[in-house]
Amino acid sequence: MNDILTIAIDGPAGAGKSTIAKRLAKDYEIVYVDTGAMYRSVALYMMEHDINLDVESAVVEALSQVHIRIVYKDDTQNIYLNEEDVTQKIRQQSVGEGASKVSAYLPVRKKMVMMQQEMAKKTSLVMDGRDIGTHVLTDARVKIFLSADVMIRAKRRFNELIEKGASADLQMIANEIKERDHRDMNREHAPLVQAKDAHMLDTSNMSIDEVVDEIKKIIEMR
Ligand code: C5P
Repeated sequence: MNDILTIAIDGPAGAGKSTIAKRLAKDYEIVYVDTGAMYRSVALYMMEHDINLDVESAVVEALSQVHIRIVYKDDTQNIYLNEEDVTQKIRQQSVGEGASKVSAYLPVRKKMVMMQQEMAKKTSLVMDGRDIGTHVLTDARVKIFLSADVMIRAKRRFNELIEKGASADLQMIANEIKERDHRDMNREHAPLVQAKDAHMLDTSNMSIDEVVDEIKKIIEMR
């Protein structure tokens, strides 16, 4: 076994992937790669250039204009789209929806996966997304599939928004999550599915600490 530690975390929207991945990255002093941010950046480019996200040929034609760069500042991932820092902008709900559309197109996936695999060649990392264990890092040392009941995932998102002082509608959030899960699970290319060798953790009734501890046990057994 080489000494590069690769951890793949997949799961549906709001399952806690990024929170957990950030904690693992900090504790193991490895890099955290949020692959959703890359698909979000592609969507943002298309949205800002009035490209219809539902028209695959239009998205694919514009793809060559999309240059994404990931930069780490104080151990935090910052993402640049054509040299503009879009780290905050891509967090909007509409961009998440857009990402779920553009990520269904094979040329978009190929471009992102190539970048992700390049990153994993050089350094130990924990990467989260939808296809990390099944396509991006098929030989990851540890693969985790995080899930949670849809209403619990919606409630977590709802609480995050309320904490930030934003307004939110729980049922609307739940509907959006269901729609996004459906699209991600049913697309033709690299749909969201648990890898055969992934450890499944249902986090519905677990605290963040409990999930992190559980994953650490799995890592230490490998
Ligand atoms: O994780 P996040 O909500 O930021 O991801 C946004 C969207 O990007 C997902 O709904 C999914 O459609 C897409 N995605 C993907 N493959 C990944 C990461 C994200 O298809 N590895």
